[in-house]
Amino acid sequence: MKKWAWISVILISLVVVNPAWALNVERLEDFETQQFHEVLEQLQPVVDATKRQGTANTLTWNALYDPLSDSQRAFLDAFRALRAETLGATSHYFGELNSPPELVPIGPQQIIKDSVPTPLDPQYLPRPVFDAYQQMMDAMQRDTGKRLLVESGYRSPAYQLYLFLYYMPKHDYSIKETNRFVALPGYSEHGNPQRQAIDFINQEGINGEDHPEEFEALPEYPWLQQNANRFGFFLSYPRDNPTHTAFEPWHWHYEREWND
Ligand SMILES: [Zn+2]
Repeated sequence: MKKWAWISVILISLVVVNPAWALNVERLEDFETQQFHEVLEQLQPVVDATKRQGTANTLTWNALYDPLSDSQRAFLDAFRALRAETLGATSHYFGELNSPPELVPIGPQQIIKDSVPTPLDPQYLPRPVFDAYQQMMDAMQRDTGKRLLVESGYRSPAYQLYLFLYYMPKHDYSIKETNRFVALPGYSEHGNPQRQAIDFINQEGINGEDHPEEFEALPEYPWLQQNANRFGFFLSYPRDNPTHTAFEPWHWHYEREWND
């Protein structure tokens, strides 16, 4: 083959096998949306299986990429390569751990919503954060007779990316808008054990997800505002915070020096 022919073969195979997805961050293009749904369709059974096993929060990159074709992997790579700084956000980049942290499972948790008991998915926290959480809840129970449950504790970067994709349709396939509500991998306090976040849910299943003011109106919330700091927990995203992240009254992170 002539030189130009080889070059064409190489160029064509690069495009066919490994398309470099540019991703329109304002709103995915139609062909990107199509690829998006094909990827999500492949990922869903994998994530569902880990949910049944109670290990979704520690999902690995290998497990996430495993069911995908080469072009689908390239599509996921493009999401992994996104940087929040280019999306109008000022969120801090924590990076990704080389190995997962040592985690303790939180015992069975259940909410009772409209008199129906519903178990929560298994959650994990680094030991020092788990201990501080328990101490804080013991104090809350003494003061108010209530405890808050952990709706979400540690989340691996791979699970974080899955969540980002999962919430994209809700935000009209806008990466920029989704990023106001779900962090990209490496940017989430849920994946950073040294600044571990907990998303609280109350015993009646109120988590404020669609209506933050519902969580803000709970008696548990002012108790947290008055007491959480002395247990090492801090509200990460107050109303009108400068990071471009939406108000999240349920999301508190642990900020006390500890060595593992
Ligand atoms: Zn959170």
